Amino acid sequence: MKMILESREIPVRGSYDVVVAGAGVAGLAAAVAARRAGRKVLLLEKSCELGGLATLGQINYFVPMCNGSGRQVVRGLCDEFIRLSIRYGYDVMPEEWRAGEPGENAAHRYSVRYSACMFALALTELIHDERVDLLFDTVASEPVMDGGRCRGLIVENKSGRSFYEAGVVVDATGDADILFRAGVPTVQGLNYFTYSAYGIDVEHCRRAAETGRIEKAVFDMAGGRANLYGKNHPEGHPFYTGTSGEDVTRYLIDNQLELLHRIGGDDRASREVISLPGMCQFRTTRHIDGDYTLRQADVYRHFEDSVTAVCDFEHKGDFLWEVPYRALVRTGFDNLITAGRTVAAEDYAWDVMRVIPPAIVTGQAAGLAAAQALEQDRPIHAIDVGLLQRTLEKQNVLLHYDDAWAKENREDVMRFTKLDAKGGTPYVAGSHDGL
Ligand SMILES: Cc1cc2nc3c(=O)[nH]c(=O)nc-3n(C[C@H](O)[C@H](O)[C@H](O)COP(=O)(O)OP(=O)(O)OC[C@H]3O[C@@H](n4cnc5c(N)ncnc54)[C@H](O)[C@@H]3O)c2cc1C
Repeated sequence: MKMILESREIPVRGSYDVVVAGAGVAGLAAAVAARRAGRKVLLLEKSCELGGLATLGQINYFVPMCNGSGRQVVRGLCDEFIRLSIRYGYDVMPEEWRAGEPGENAAHRYSVRYSACMFALALTELIHDERVDLLFDTVASEPVMDGGRCRGLIVENKSGRSFYEAGVVVDATGDADILFRAGVPTVQGLNYFTYSAYGIDVEHCRRAAETGRIEKAVFDMAGGRANLYGKNHPEGHPFYTGTSGEDVTRYLIDNQLELLHRIGGDDRASREVISLPGMCQFRTTRHIDGDYTLRQADVYRHFEDSVTAVCDFEHKGDFLWEVPYRALVRTGFDNLITAGRTVAAEDYAWDVMRVIPPAIVTGQAAGLAAAQALEQDRPIHAIDVGLLQRTLEKQNVLLHYDDAWAKENREDVMRFTKLDAKGGTPYVAGSHDGL
């Protein structure tokens, strides 16, 4: 059943070159990149802190950004963000990576665990210093379309409903909500039973006091414990789409009750949950059906329109992909682009793409592309990709990996299989835990 409501006038509150919906790491990178390219930028965030899953969602780990031989693959704004993540919180950067690539003899991969709250505060400082206009506690609800062009976004916040005009809209909602509502074809994903909160207890506090390391006081308290392949997803338990109000609520109730039951009530004096995730920990809700969809089988394939090289974060790190610009856009939608976990990628390639470092660099590419589309007065899918690539390279992004790094047997990467919704595909064991 559908209801037609009488039309109401909506105030126009502002006009921007680039409007970014969602301030997870992808949206933040897009906003910063567009701003540094001289554009007037509005960033809309429905929660009350910046960082999305990487802060509010309790994820506090930059997966490795290097291959298995001490060479950095994911670069660009990622370097700036990784340093920001530890600027005010505890600093666990591997020593050998502090001054750049350690090369062949690296004992550690380039990854960092950080304080999610301190990172969120540092991101607020960044956005403030960059003079990006930010609206917290603001839901970007509807794109207003004129054929294949988006005139801007209707938003909802304490001021009520209002409209912001946009030259280009970057959908960094993590769920492609804006592009879906604009009519861009999308692909629905499914999610496992996963929920992780932060806890402390007397024993961990003692360890922190003994070592003088505050991060040792905090540990993960799980509700659902499924990893990215579906390992630990209870048999017969339904999957979650994460794209309807009812489904999101079912996920939250299932997981919060599971967490409560797991914690129990015996040692109430000695332990505490210090925070629950402020957003659903869905890995793969929806991605656009872009002009190109990156696949697991594209491992070791070069793309002429690559906007960044990315690495496998779990295994030895020698599985490498390149991300074609076409995975961020869909022809026919002239001023809409996406970044982060909603770029067009399937199977294990979606997992490789959705983690924090690639989300940042695809955000950077989307923000720059938005600025250049306006400069060139062209549809965003038809910009001068060569110029975009040259600008990204000047910003230290690695577009193409070195062929000498591609050492692994290509067939190995095809083993990584997820538990699918029909339960037909088994979890394929490896030496990994899964994020
Ligand atoms: C269980 C789990 C474990 C993970 N572990 C790791 C890990 O260890 N390391 C790692 O690198 N990655 C990990 N990831 C992946 C990673 O954290 C995220 O995929 C990545 O941070 C995605 O960034 P994003 O900016 O694309 O999206 P998100 O972080 O989802 O950001 C989207 C933002 O948009 C906002 N938003 C949504 N809709 C609207 C709207 N309509 N209007 C306004 N704002 C809106 C949200 O509030 C949010 O701030 C994990 C993910 C999960 C779920």
